Amino acid sequence: MNWKDILGEKTGCRLIFNAPMTDYTTYKTGGAAEVLALPENEEQILRLKTFCEQKNAPFRMIGLGSNILVSDKGLPGVICCLKNYVGISIRDEELTALAGTPLDEAASLSVENGLGGLESLSGIPGSCGGAVYMNAGAFGQETFDNLKCFKVINADGEIKQFCKNDVEYGYRKVKNIENCIILSATWLLKKQDPAELKQTRLSVLKRRAEKQPLEYPSAGSVFKRPVNDYASRLIDVCGLRGLSVGGAKVSEKHAGFIINYDNATAADVYALIRKVQEEVYKKTSVELQTEQILWGDFPGKTA
Ligand SMILES: Cc1cc2nc3c(=O)[nH]c(=O)nc-3n(C[C@H](O)[C@H](O)[C@H](O)COP(=O)(O)OP(=O)(O)OC[C@H]3O[C@@H](n4cnc5c(N)ncnc54)[C@H](O)[C@@H]3O)c2cc1C
Repeated sequence: MNWKDILGEKTGCRLIFNAPMTDYTTYKTGGAAEVLALPENEEQILRLKTFCEQKNAPFRMIGLGSNILVSDKGLPGVICCLKNYVGISIRDEELTALAGTPLDEAASLSVENGLGGLESLSGIPGSCGGAVYMNAGAFGQETFDNLKCFKVINADGEIKQFCKNDVEYGYRKVKNIENCIILSATWLLKKQDPAELKQTRLSVLKRRAEKQPLEYPSAGSVFKRPVNDYASRLIDVCGLRGLSVGGAKVSEKHAGFIINYDNATAADVYALIRKVQEEVYKKTSVELQTEQILWGDFPGKTA
C-alpha cells in the first residue's frame, strides 16, 4: 500500500494532494506539493513527522510561505503547513503564540495590550514560527530581541523548550534549529503606553505601504544586506530597477524586491535573481546572497 493512502488516517491531518504552492506562498508561483498537510495540534504535527520518517517520505515545514520560492517542478513528499495551528495567549508581560499564528497578529495584540517589543515587526507577513526560524526583523527590531523561549520538536522527535540564549542567532539566521519544528514562541515584553505603541505600529505599516510593492506578489527582500550596505542600493546603482525576465520584475518601487507582476514562473524569478547577482558582482564585486529560500530544482541548483 502506498504511504499516501494511510497518511490521513495515521496522522489525523487534513491533506491536500497535488497542492498548488501558488496558494501557499506569497510569490504565488511554483509547482505543486505532492501532499500538503494542515495539522491543527501538536500531536498531529508529531505524528506527521514520525510517519514521514518511518516511510522515508520527504518532509518540509512551511509557515505562511512568505520567504520561499518553490520550483515549477513542484515538491515531492509532504509539506507540513502550520497556517491552521494558531492561537495567542497573554499572561502578565508574556505573550505566547503558536507557530502558525501570523506575526502581525502577535504584534497587533501586544500593542493593544500595551506591551512593547514586537510593534516594529508589524506588517511582516510571516508566521511566528517562520519569524523565529529566520529571526525576522525590521525597523531596528528583531524577533529574538525580546524572545524569552520557544518550544520545538527536535530531530529525535522530542518536545523541548529552548531559551533564546541556548541557540546562536544573528542577522536572519538561527543556528542549530535547522531540523527542529518550531511549535510556539514566548516573548517577554515591557509595559508601555498603548497610544505610543499604536503610533509606532501605524507608522511602520505606513512606511511599508509607501516603500514596498505590496500591491504585487513577492517574498520581500530577495537578498541579505551586504556588510555596511544595502542590496537595494547596489541593485539601483547598477541600473537594474525595473529589469524583468518573463513575468518577474525588479520592483521599481523597491529595488530589493522581485515582484511577480505578470504570471511569473518560478524559473522567471530564479533567472532574474541570477541576473541581478551577476550584474551586481560585475559592477561592484559584491556577491549578493539570497535571503529567500529556494525549494526544489532550479537550473544549476538542487535544493
Ligand atoms: C511583502 C513582504 C515583506 C517582508 N518584510 C520582511 C521584513 O521586514 N523583515 C523580515 O525579516 N522578513 C520580511 N519578509 C519575509 C518573511 O515574511 C519572513 O522571513 C518571515 O519570517 C517568514 O515566515 P513564514 O511563516 O512565511 O515562513 P516560510 O516562508 O513559510 O518559511 C521560511 C523558512 O522557515 C521555515 N519554517 C517556517 N515555519 C517553521 C516552523 N514552525 N518550524 C520550523 N521551520 C519553519 C521553513 O521551513 C523555511 O525554511 C517579507 C516578506 C514579504 C512578502
